[in-house]
Amino acid sequence: MTQIAEPRTAGERALERVNHWINGRRVAGASGRQGPVFNPATGEVAREVDFASVEEVDEAVRTAGAAFPTWRSTSLSKRTDILFRFRNLVEQHREEVAAHLTREHGKVRTDALGEVQRGLENIEFATGISHLLKGGFSEQVSTGVDVYQIRQPLGVVTGITPFNFPAMVPMWMFGNAIACGNTFVLKPSEKDPSASVYLAELWKEAGLPDGVFNVVHGDKVAVDRLLEHPEIAAVSFVGSTPIARYIYETGTKNGKRVQALGGAKNHMVVLPDADIGMAADAAVSAAYGSAGERCMAISVVVAVGEVADPLVEAIEERLPKIRVGPGHEEGSEMGPLITREHRDRVAGFLESGVAAGATLRADGREHVLYDQDSGGFFLGVSLLDNVTPEMECYRNEIFGPVLEVIRVPTYTDAVRVIEENPYANGTAIFTRDGGAARQFQFDVPVGMVGINVPIPVPVAYYSFGGWKASLFGDLHMYGPEGIQFYTRAKVVTARWPDPATSSVDLHFPQTR
Ligand code: NAD
Repeated sequence: MTQIAEPRTAGERALERVNHWINGRRVAGASGRQGPVFNPATGEVAREVDFASVEEVDEAVRTAGAAFPTWRSTSLSKRTDILFRFRNLVEQHREEVAAHLTREHGKVRTDALGEVQRGLENIEFATGISHLLKGGFSEQVSTGVDVYQIRQPLGVVTGITPFNFPAMVPMWMFGNAIACGNTFVLKPSEKDPSASVYLAELWKEAGLPDGVFNVVHGDKVAVDRLLEHPEIAAVSFVGSTPIARYIYETGTKNGKRVQALGGAKNHMVVLPDADIGMAADAAVSAAYGSAGERCMAISVVVAVGEVADPLVEAIEERLPKIRVGPGHEEGSEMGPLITREHRDRVAGFLESGVAAGATLRADGREHVLYDQDSGGFFLGVSLLDNVTPEMECYRNEIFGPVLEVIRVPTYTDAVRVIEENPYANGTAIFTRDGGAARQFQFDVPVGMVGINVPIPVPVAYYSFGGWKASLFGDLHMYGPEGIQFYTRAKVVTARWPDPATSSVDLHFPQTR
């Protein structure tokens, strides 16, 4: 987790501060604690973000709690209207949202715009809330008796989000949560917090009543308070596996509904009959896009049989063409990593991979932008061939621009490699054989599967989630399961007065 910024000495330039958003306005932090927000392209601390105290979290939750009764009573058509207006405002200001992402996360403009677009699709899904909340109705279950089910909001819910999608992942959560009638407290990543406050301003402009959407920034202090606060009904989390496990265990121990999405190690199986050019293009795009800092990035190519040599060659020849540079520069295709510490950790896996016997076919540490003492957190693209499952570089989620290649003799070996990996977020198979693809879809114990599609992130009207150590909880995120997560069902059994059939009857109620 980010270190706390050193107190500034008198005379130092005051940095811009990223404040909390509580009850429809920016609120300056009063805890005396803050964290640095870097510009990853230059390595400079660009601003500071307030870290909330327990009391500040309590204030945000209190505000959200106070807004809940009115918001849950607001008609579906009014809620829909606000969601539409929010959707249009984000669309109108997509460049500004993307600019926040480039400045603080480092991703290139086109990638940042893509993130905003995928987030927007979740808001578009939530605009259909009047349809999504339809319940069931059974007429005449017994004489003169009807039964129906309605879904009601939970109350105050929270979202705790990672650095790698500072706009999209919050949008996975808050559109559906708010559409269902809940009020929301977001704790975004402290590494790139500005987009969340910008989105809060757009909510206000869209007409969302104050207190329905709040943002508290911070570290473990804020997260732990949210996890134990008696008024928080549900927790949505996306981040690394150790923290996801902790959030799930702590949140459920405190009686909350929790969905906690964790880390990943995504494999792309390439069968001997695959189109080599198409598979190489897909592997390169999915491994190095967003500098590999995507939970659905392809991090391992599993090359089956004789496809390995031509495939690795085809991947290798594409690498020198990737333009690494600052996200805001026209023409950059891959930006820096999020922090220097993270960049160094990623580079460390190259060293340990080679020491363990892997073949380094492209070394990102040789890129001109790497290792400039005062510069940005750049690392070029790297390709590690002949990796085996015991290696340190394979057993860990690297979360950087490193693609690993495991060579196996058969399809069965490829599936076994995936089965034995603790993560199970996404996977893909590249083949021209429909039967093999169908068998893979049946066999592979992974939550999201692509067939000749390397990053199978479900569209907003399906739900997103991995299996095993990639998700703790029962319900996946967004889409129909998101609506289920943010509501609870109530079943009503109703009879209207009919004096003609009224009598005292102490038997257990019968339907026949
Ligand atoms: P992270 O787990 O370090 O942080 C996520 C959130 O948890 C942040 O808001 C952070 O402030 C908070 N946090 C961190 N340490 C904490 C602690 N000790 N106690 C309480 N809260 C804590 O993750 P990250 O580095 O921001 O994001 C990258 C990770 O997220 C990768 O592992 C990636 O695979 C994963 N991710 C998963 C998905 C998915 O859908 N499965 C999507 C995006 C990212």
